[in-house]
Amino acid sequence: MTTSTLPVPDFTARIAERARRMNASAIREILKITQEPDVISFAGGLPAPELFPIEDVRRATDAVLTRYGAAALQYSTTEGHLPLRRWIAGRAGIEPQNVQIVTGSQQGLDLLGKVLIDEGDVVLVESPTYLGALQSFQPYGPRYVQLPTDDHGIDVGALEAVLKAQPAKLLYAIPNFQNPTGRTLSLERRRRLVELTAQYGVLVIEDDPYGKLRFTGEELPGLYDLALEMAGDPEHSHVIYCSSFSKTLVPGLRDAWLQAATPIIGKVVQAKQGADLHTPTLNQMIVTELVDDVMPRQIEIVKRAYGERARDMVAKIGEHLPAGIHHTTPEGGMFLWVTLPEGIDTQPMLARAVVRKVAYVPGTPFFALGGGANTMRLSYSSATPEQIDTGLKALGETIREVLT
Ligand code: PMP
Repeated sequence: MTTSTLPVPDFTARIAERARRMNASAIREILKITQEPDVISFAGGLPAPELFPIEDVRRATDAVLTRYGAAALQYSTTEGHLPLRRWIAGRAGIEPQNVQIVTGSQQGLDLLGKVLIDEGDVVLVESPTYLGALQSFQPYGPRYVQLPTDDHGIDVGALEAVLKAQPAKLLYAIPNFQNPTGRTLSLERRRRLVELTAQYGVLVIEDDPYGKLRFTGEELPGLYDLALEMAGDPEHSHVIYCSSFSKTLVPGLRDAWLQAATPIIGKVVQAKQGADLHTPTLNQMIVTELVDDVMPRQIEIVKRAYGERARDMVAKIGEHLPAGIHHTTPEGGMFLWVTLPEGIDTQPMLARAVVRKVAYVPGTPFFALGGGANTMRLSYSSATPEQIDTGLKALGETIREVLT
């Protein structure tokens, strides 16, 4: 009980315009109701914790503290731990000056939003797209234009029409095993997207946390690779690449990176100084210790597990969901996307699903401008075969109940 005699300040009136544009993640709200212990949740989308290389992280932490001592616990440079930047640059065929370490690729998206988006700038996004990117960009006041997609990703014909119709600042895309759909952008479309955006002077953010988790099919060059090939020099590339160790090692160390031309990196450095000075020194050193031997092994372990779980989920969709329901068949990553008949709204249906002890994420929050009421995201990354079977059976029953 309060004993203060002072009036309560009008906090709401004092919230900044940019903060008023923020909203609670629809997913976090949904996760609250799906986290009851006996509900099988395909909603969360967390990497499988039983696969985390705990002993390797312990060993690496010890090695780093022995080798670097106090330096591992000291403040360090905003750009990031040089050996890690060198390792990333070496793999990408660029220089460390084009690599910025960030605290999760989520921070990378936020800093890019801060550095690139002025109020009213047109930002092109996939329809649907990663909700976390919308959350990062939203405070900076973008005007979103949704690009239509199909099972091969962005419709590049529609992209051309959009670019002809209006100037755009930025295109944000997740070409590999997209969150939320699990779709992959075809090679032909990647080439066209890179050409078109270069031609129309649009910067591209390629968000690629899942690219290394391909469990079937052939690896495709990224947008950054194609732009680099075309431009011949990272300083001329209009694509900014964003990736992460969250899915290939562990998410809790919050280590990720950006690749971009130095004028962009320079501004990101200034923005990051204001945000957190630098990504934790110790974490960057631990990751550097793990990238050469543990990470390739970890990637194989994770790919095998997610591949089995994805195949299992696709099979159980066929077995338990009513006929005629469309689903994606991911070649990597952690998610698949289900489209129910028009007229079904997956948001109110979730309450019925939870009664039957199964949960998913309704699709609408992933659309920058709304839509997709009949869609849902299912995550298979941390589900057991029993959970996939029982959960899909319960989901099938829920959908049949709504259809009748
Ligand atoms: N981008 C996409 C497409 C994601 O799915 C995620 C994680 N869910 C992130 C960025 C953020 O990842 P992190 O901050 O852990 O690197």
